[in-house]
Amino acid sequence: MIPLEQGISRASLEQARRLGYRRSMDTRIGFGYDSHAFKPGVPLRIGGLSLDHPEGLAGHSDGDVLLHAVTDALLGAVAAGDIGTFFPPGDARWKNADSAVFLDTALEEIRNAGYRIANIDVTLILDRPKISPIAGEMRARVADLLKVGIDQVSIKAKTPEGLNLDHVAQCHAVALVTRIREEDGLKSMEAVIANQRQLEDVVDDLLASVHGVPKRRINPVYDTEDIT
Ligand code: MG
Repeated sequence: MIPLEQGISRASLEQARRLGYRRSMDTRIGFGYDSHAFKPGVPLRIGGLSLDHPEGLAGHSDGDVLLHAVTDALLGAVAAGDIGTFFPPGDARWKNADSAVFLDTALEEIRNAGYRIANIDVTLILDRPKISPIAGEMRARVADLLKVGIDQVSIKAKTPEGLNLDHVAQCHAVALVTRIREEDGLKSMEAVIANQRQLEDVVDDLLASVHGVPKRRINPVYDTEDIT
C-alpha cells in the first residue's frame, strides 16, 4: 500500500479499496449436493458414464447424482435457482432423462449471467462401485460435458464410513466461476449461435447489454423436493 505521506488522500485510498472489492466480485462460488438410493435393476449412471454394477440410482431422471450436484453448484454460483427451478419434480418430460440436459441448462445460465467456469471440485460418497479406477475417465467425461479442460475438473470419492449409508450415493460439488471479459464474451456468443432459440438468446443478451432491456428469464424458485 502507498503510504499516506506520499500525497495519496484517504478518500483516494478508500476509492481504490472499493475498486478492489468490485474486482473481487469477478469470481463467484456455488455449492451443490444430491443423494440417490441404490435400486436393483436400474442402470447406474454417474458423472455421465454408464457403470457396470448390479444396482443403479433410483430417480425420476437417470439418477446421475454427480451431474445433479454439479448442476446445482453451477446454478448456485450465479444465484439462478436450483435444478427443480428448471426441471420441476414429476414433469413427465424428464422421466429417465439424460442428466447432461440439466447441466446444459446450468451452463446456459452461467453464460447468460456473464460468467464461465474456473474449476469444479466434487466429492462422491458411496460404498460401491469403487470410483478410483475410473476417476480419470469420469473427469474427462465431465470436463467434456462442461466444455472445459480436464485440469478444471476434480473428482474424489469416499466411502460412507460409519454412516450406515451403504445403500445411498451422495455427492457434494463446488464450482468457481469468473466473469467473462467482453472480447471473450463475443467469442462465446459466436460459438453458441447454433440454432434459432440460441440466436434469440444472444439477441436478448445484446439488447440487455446495449439498451438495458431486461432479459427474459425464468425467476429462480427454490424447490428442495428434488426427485431428479
Ligand atoms: Mg438428484
